Amino acid sequence: MASSTIPRKAIQTAAYPPEPPSRTFPTPGSALSAERASATSRYTRSRPSLSGWEALLAFDREHIWHPYGALPCPRQPLPVVAAEGVRLELASGDRLIDGMASWWCAIHGYRHPALDRAAREQLERMAHVMFGGLTHEPAVRLAERLLAIAPGALGAVFFADSGSVSVEVAIKLCLQFQRACGRPARTRLLTLRGGYHGDTFGAMAVCDPVAGMHSAFAGVLAQHVFAARPPDGFDAGLDEGWAAHVGELVERHREQLAGIILEPVVQGAGGMRFHSPACLSLLRDLCDEHGLLLVLDEIATGFGRTGALFASEHAAIGPDVMCVGKALTGGYLTLGATLCTRAVADAVSSGEGGGLMHGPTFMANPLACAVALASLDLLDGREGRQPGLDAGVPGSSRGPGGEAWRERVGAIEAGLRAGLEPARELALVKDVRVLGAIGVVQLQRDVDVGAATEAAVRRGVWLRPFRDLVYTMPPYVIAEEELASVAAAVVDAARAGSGS
Ligand code: PMP
Repeated sequence: MASSTIPRKAIQTAAYPPEPPSRTFPTPGSALSAERASATSRYTRSRPSLSGWEALLAFDREHIWHPYGALPCPRQPLPVVAAEGVRLELASGDRLIDGMASWWCAIHGYRHPALDRAAREQLERMAHVMFGGLTHEPAVRLAERLLAIAPGALGAVFFADSGSVSVEVAIKLCLQFQRACGRPARTRLLTLRGGYHGDTFGAMAVCDPVAGMHSAFAGVLAQHVFAARPPDGFDAGLDEGWAAHVGELVERHREQLAGIILEPVVQGAGGMRFHSPACLSLLRDLCDEHGLLLVLDEIATGFGRTGALFASEHAAIGPDVMCVGKALTGGYLTLGATLCTRAVADAVSSGEGGGLMHGPTFMANPLACAVALASLDLLDGREGRQPGLDAGVPGSSRGPGGEAWRERVGAIEAGLRAGLEPARELALVKDVRVLGAIGVVQLQRDVDVGAATEAAVRRGVWLRPFRDLVYTMPPYVIAEEELASVAAAVVDAARAGSGS
């Protein structure tokens, strides 16, 4: 592939978290050579010409915010014109394997026939209808399905329009629950340093207060209680010092605490760190002992990513409240959900206000619910044969398969363990870790994101490093050879990004 000719400045590098805005602005359209624009791709033929893309990119740079970015956008994003299977197709005609699954969502890859069909069929009925005073089959069926697969004894579903909003709703549930139980002073949450729960104000307040991208808002955020990050390592077991620390914090703040919120087992955007499931069991016990709600943010970990359908299953515990999002719709549409136990729902419903005080315009969007249902079908193999790792078709993500998610994630875990091993030999690598379909190379210094991304693109892979991390969370449908390319790209990116 010819992607090595994409100039470095064409790679937008704003990431989780933002890098300080650089003031080196690329020439509009510099990413695209005339030669590439004449690519005879079936996608590009009907898309804007080079001059069209020049204008689009110039407008984008001046007028459109990208995540955690500045205006004008310091680095030009890569224009994507189509995506299929695990590949993104750029306006240049180059194709990149998406090692990020579009920020961890596109677990079945792009243009999956079953998801496309679900969207089309739902479109023929209705794209959207308000959820106040009305209901519809996709929402009811999805709620039923989520409650059937959720851990523990969850009995009610609130459909939110993003992960962050589902966290806002979870926080409201905690506060309304305690109020309904006659404990109105319990308005704070205990959470872990190193966590990430979203960018809205309630969610920001439970993100890591230092490295959580939101320090600019420190003065106006709700003041919650932060416990130290659990010691690293999925296999680390329960650290007694950490357990004593958390126990002491809960004891000290028990009259103010409404609940404990955390990302179970994997802290994602806060640093891609894994901790022992035993920490979850400890927190479950502390919640039970002190009348707190345990809120598990499974937005990143849910739907198989860690090797369990939900990460809490590693600890065999159930939450009182659980947030899901991201892969819920297989990455097709924005949808989140906040699930809670019947006991929480009953208390909140009998409390002041007579219900849960939230209700967004696009709540339970039918299109998103229909696609989410199809995505859950794919996960547990109800769709029968589907593309996959076990297809054994070189270079293909569309071969026969038929295995459910567990085998796929297991195969990805094995592939990442083998493929990332060479990174251990690199001079400035601090740690290499893999859990489920998550592979992480942590450097001893912040990644040179431009150099790392360029190295990955040269290998035909899209990666999005941040802070000191080069990592991949690929689509589950990735084929063996594609996964090997992604792992090799992560190693190359770590090498280039560390300057070694
Ligand atoms: N919680 C976690 C654990 C997340 O990883 C994210 C997104 N990275 C969110 C919440 C926020 O979700 P969204 O971006 O859909 O608002």
